[in-house]
Amino acid sequence: MTAAELGAPDRVLRGRFQKDHERRYVHVPFEVPTGLRQVHLRYWYSDQIDSDPLISGGNTLDIGLFDERGIAEGSPGFRGWSGSNKMEFTIDESWATPPYRKGKIGRGTWHVLLGPYKVGPRGCDWKVEIWFDPGLQSPVQGGAIARRVNPDPLPEGRSGWLRGDLHCHTLYSDGDSWPPEMLMTAAEAGLDFLGTTDHNNVAHQLAYGPGGDGLPIVVPGVEVTTYGGHWNAWGTDRWWEFREPEAEAVERTMRAAAESGAVVSVCHPKPFGPPWEYADVSGFHAVEVWNGPWPQLNGASLAYWEELLRGGTRCAALGGSDTHYLKSGDVPLRHQDALGTPTTWVHVDGRPTVTAILAALREGRSFVSASPRGPQLYLEPDRGRAGRVSVEARDGAGSTLTLFSDSRSIAATSVDDAAWARAFDLPAGLEYVRAELASATGEILALTNPVWAEQL
Ligand SMILES: [Zn+2]
Repeated sequence: MTAAELGAPDRVLRGRFQKDHERRYVHVPFEVPTGLRQVHLRYWYSDQIDSDPLISGGNTLDIGLFDERGIAEGSPGFRGWSGSNKMEFTIDESWATPPYRKGKIGRGTWHVLLGPYKVGPRGCDWKVEIWFDPGLQSPVQGGAIARRVNPDPLPEGRSGWLRGDLHCHTLYSDGDSWPPEMLMTAAEAGLDFLGTTDHNNVAHQLAYGPGGDGLPIVVPGVEVTTYGGHWNAWGTDRWWEFREPEAEAVERTMRAAAESGAVVSVCHPKPFGPPWEYADVSGFHAVEVWNGPWPQLNGASLAYWEELLRGGTRCAALGGSDTHYLKSGDVPLRHQDALGTPTTWVHVDGRPTVTAILAALREGRSFVSASPRGPQLYLEPDRGRAGRVSVEARDGAGSTLTLFSDSRSIAATSVDDAAWARAFDLPAGLEYVRAELASATGEILALTNPVWAEQL
């Protein structure tokens, strides 16, 4: 039996969304009888368009599923959310279509979660068909993709520094590859750690395993994807509320995630990121100031972070490639990213562990570079003298180094050597200082986190 050969469904749910339903989730109940081993869902809606924020004029309908254990915040009954990426999926006792969770098919009231992300001018008619015990077989999981045999060695970093990518997607949300393939590709790129951030799911984490032993260390995460912006949490193994788009709910959830020990970061606060619509929300540790290649409007994200710093909010900068595709040739421009573009470098004391990486991210013991090859940029208080910082740039010859404080440049100089270092005396009274390396055309090549006044 294949999904194409399914007979008449056991349940059909129908409805219609108007413009004023846009970005409001609804839960549509259906009854599941006793003794089932498998449910299969397929949905359809009118005037379908892609979820890409650049496209409008039609409908994008997101879907998810809750079982009989209920729809409350944090409910164990959450079986998964696939955005608008999968038009049908199966949940079986012993397997499930990613990102959905396999397991017992309990009797009772289940809910289809529907999210009209975009509703076009003609409204959105929708239909969900449900089959009970259709007898579908588990799809075969793809194997690892071909490896580069002899990768060029990467430039060495300072001792205790690890390079990684914090943001990627697999078949457990809207990517095209399995977690082990993503991890192998990260290894091939020379990364020491990989943050795994499928949208609104954590089921991918089991498929990755812990990494290590020659593979990058897996930093288990989730991209909490709300209709007003996305945020990443790393160091968490549960789903976080994404259905409430109000700023108050978003802040409450971010704070709860931080409280639980996760590192929380605002994702891509820039046009078409999608953007971050919660300007007044606080409670996060970091901002993803660099998402994908620098020219993809990352200047707006950097400006957002700088505004926070200037306003006295201490939060760290980090980067993530947001890689979705390892295989597809026909990829939307904004997803033509590669793992390590950019790379976030963290300084860990002692053994490299997830806990140590999380601590470095939380505390801003990190910098971001265009790729795993660098350039590397180290900024630290000068140990010999107060009011002075030392800067080391590796592999940055031909670029310009600028020091910033309170949003203004306080020093700029050209970097003329691949191994370059200099100390700078700072004006008195600064709140912080941070460093950037830029190319001749103004493209950022590396940027550091701040050194704060009391460290100077
Ligand atoms: Zn995102």
